[in-house]
Amino acid sequence: MARRRMIYEGKAKVIFEGPEPGTIVQYFKDDATAFNNQKKGTITGKGVLNNRISEYLMNRLNQMGVPTHFIRRLNMREQLVREVEIIPIEVVIRNIAAGSISKRFGIEEGTALPRSIVEYYFKNDQLNDPMVSEEHITAFGWATIQELDEIVALSLRVNDYLSGLFLGIGIKLVDFKLEFGRLWHENGDMQIVLADEISPDNCRLWDSKTNEKLDKDRFRRDMGNVEGAYQEVARRLGILPESGPADVQGTDTVQ
Ligand code: 5GP
Repeated sequence: MARRRMIYEGKAKVIFEGPEPGTIVQYFKDDATAFNNQKKGTITGKGVLNNRISEYLMNRLNQMGVPTHFIRRLNMREQLVREVEIIPIEVVIRNIAAGSISKRFGIEEGTALPRSIVEYYFKNDQLNDPMVSEEHITAFGWATIQELDEIVALSLRVNDYLSGLFLGIGIKLVDFKLEFGRLWHENGDMQIVLADEISPDNCRLWDSKTNEKLDKDRFRRDMGNVEGAYQEVARRLGILPESGPADVQGTDTVQ
């Protein structure tokens, strides 16, 4: 097989040119970072689990009519996705106060918010992903008003669907981060689609009964058993890799 061209190496994924034009391959690493790269580590098997979890959730969302970049999983650590023009905005949807909103407004973690809150952050590591308003997004041309309307509508649909899905397996969807891209069709039409990944790396997931954290906060806050928490999410979703936890290290097919 020919060597693939690497397009970009991120903190948790490597992006390669796909086998056909208009496709790319996302390779999921075990590397974990937090606080804009100040904390670094490895979570054994994380890449395999996130590849699986994101595949499952993106497929379910596609079935619900939410357009995503996801095409199919290729192997333990890789998935094929459509090449999109990434909009440089992180959309955070919050249902329960935790993390930065608790810090910023002095709200105790775990407090239910009066309604779901949507926030935007400008994707820029050098600037530490600053929070931005719709005014900034449209004035600086990162997205148009129409695109932003579509992004908010899709984000709220994703929140409704995933909140219900997780509640059904005894998990509260506290908050999560989404990214969107522009998918250009051959006839010149453009469609806003969900991109990146949905996994315990970018969601806060708490056990419904005990509030035990089942997400990357275990790494960020040195709580231990990070692998176990990601495995528990996969287990409850019914998608633990074929032969169980022993299988999560996965094969390194990266070339
Ligand atoms: P917070 O603003 O409280 O730190 O994060 C809110 C939610 O968005 C959390 O679920 C967190 O995992 C996710 N999130 C925010 N920024 C990022 C980011 O840069 N990378 C990842 N993986 N998740 C993020």
